Amino acid sequence: MSTKTLAIVAPAPGAQLVPTTIERRDLRAHDVLIDIVFTGICHSDIHTAKGEWGEAIFPLVPGHEVSGVVAAVGSEVTKFEVGDRVGVGYMVDSCGECEYCLAGTEQFCLKGHVTTYNSIGYDGEPSHGGYSRHIVVKDTFVCRIPDGIELDVAAPLLCAGITSYSPLRQWGAGPGKKVAVVGLGGLGHLGVRLAAAMGADVTVLSQSLKKRESAFELGASHFHDTGDPSTFDRLRRRFDIILNTVSADLPLDSYLETLRIGGAMVNVGLPATSSSYSPTALIDGNRILAGSLVGGIAEVQEMLDFCAGHGIGAEIERISADQVNAAFERVENSDVRYRFVIDAATIGAAS
Ligand code: NAP
Ligand code: ZN
Repeated sequence: MSTKTLAIVAPAPGAQLVPTTIERRDLRAHDVLIDIVFTGICHSDIHTAKGEWGEAIFPLVPGHEVSGVVAAVGSEVTKFEVGDRVGVGYMVDSCGECEYCLAGTEQFCLKGHVTTYNSIGYDGEPSHGGYSRHIVVKDTFVCRIPDGIELDVAAPLLCAGITSYSPLRQWGAGPGKKVAVVGLGGLGHLGVRLAAAMGADVTVLSQSLKKRESAFELGASHFHDTGDPSTFDRLRRRFDIILNTVSADLPLDSYLETLRIGGAMVNVGLPATSSSYSPTALIDGNRILAGSLVGGIAEVQEMLDFCAGHGIGAEIERISADQVNAAFERVENSDVRYRFVIDAATIGAAS
């Protein structure tokens, strides 16, 4: 049994996205039906819809930065009520029993977590993401959006926010720590706001000087243009933590050499090509090259509460459904300040 809802779909790899109708399952005992209000456009949506990460499941409804309001709950749901403000991020199910699920890191579930889109659920049905009017999600994968954050600026926190927050916490961003954020896009701008709120001294490394002023407004204290060859010489052994959010391959050695002794470069950007580095750049400085995948559900809630406490939301450009293809192009050209958010009410509406 299922109910129809309106959505935006990529019919095939690289094809233009078009309006469509999809099915959402009828509520099971632990399900929550959400009226989606906003959905952010993550660069991962684009990598997936274009088939850049290999085969995906088409037709594909992207979207894993969902904010909305609870419209109905299943018979066993106690945590949410109709009218609650909620969010859904990168994943919608996991086994709940393995050591990683029990540790609150469902993204590493041994059975395999189910992603919000481009996944086959444990029931054998494909998952469809948040470029849609409604979504049905198991209650344990739904987070509460605190009252202090508007739904439009909250949506990007569900992926971009947690993906920046989790490694900053893991690697100890805080007072006395110098943090560099590479790439000032959706993840990067939240990385700057979060690291600054944690008390770190924040530097932005960007491809040009274009985003300099807004980097300072977001909370950075320093800004460097990586297109200037002298930048890397000047920054040798400067940073404790580098958060690399870049969606393309980078010359890793140049960045590694800007780390202090024992510093860590954490990659969250996921380019389609593989990267290489020189072992010397790591060894000569006891440096760490690390990665990080979103964050567990409890940590997403912690991040949302942290953002509410510090007045942090995303910097957004609100768009209607018919602007999605143009928005994809602008993201690919690093031309978004700093996250597109789709107004879900415009999905399927006559323009
Ligand atoms: P985005 O908004 O497009 O931001 C990426 C930024 O990287 C751009 O704004 C640009 O910043 C910089 N950049 C782009 N191309 C570049 C190039 N060729 N050389 C140098 N810098 C370049 O993307 P996003 O949504 O933040 O996502 C960033 C990456 O993280 C994507 O690969 C995405 O798939 C991945 N991601 C990973 C996770 C995870 O769990 N690890 C979660 C979400 C997303 P400047 O203009 O400042 O240079
Ligand atoms: Zn994402």
